[in-house]
Amino acid sequence: MQIARKKSHCKVLGPGLRSVIWFHGCCRKCPGCIADTMNETAEHETLSAEELAGWVSASKDIEGITLSGGEPLMQPLDELAEFLTLAKQQSNLSVLCYTGYTLEELQDNREMQDVLLLIDVLIDGEYRQGLDNGQRWRGSGNQRFHFLTPRYRNEADEWYIASERQIEIELDMNGKLLISGVPSKDFIDKLTTELQRREINVDFS
Ligand code: SF4
Repeated sequence: MQIARKKSHCKVLGPGLRSVIWFHGCCRKCPGCIADTMNETAEHETLSAEELAGWVSASKDIEGITLSGGEPLMQPLDELAEFLTLAKQQSNLSVLCYTGYTLEELQDNREMQDVLLLIDVLIDGEYRQGLDNGQRWRGSGNQRFHFLTPRYRNEADEWYIASERQIEIELDMNGKLLISGVPSKDFIDKLTTELQRREINVDFS
């Protein structure tokens, strides 16, 4: 699997403390997508299902895993299913997955169904800039939470109305600024302008 970035502990992409994996590559070109750095030319690493599960097992005290990107569901589906199976065997981790596909588009694919069985909540649909209304954990209002297992189903109402957005900002060892979460578009525009003026390299995730 092709991994653009991973973060062992993150509080802003799903409930509780989570390990987040940003997969590399997405065939869509949603206007305003903040994950441009996950495109085909960006740096990335290749990890097997066992290697990725090993990395997750080293992330202590997490509630679950969030799959983001890029497009997680463009990765080899057999490897993705193996990774999630191994990770969930280690402890009762929950799995959230962002995808640009709609759930309806995914359900026709038998291999995809095996992956969906391992996901607790799927956040589906392309990012649509015009529908970006500041909701928590979702980039735009067309994106839906699909509670595929009972794990968070009783929190569904709260998830849909929550509107506070939070982000985490870090500076990596190469001086790159890394943003995790779903920032507001205004924030990104202003930050990008200011950092470019200062010739600072930025990755958005
Ligand atoms: S599907 Fe997601 S990662 Fe892909 S271009 Fe659209 S917003 Fe970006």
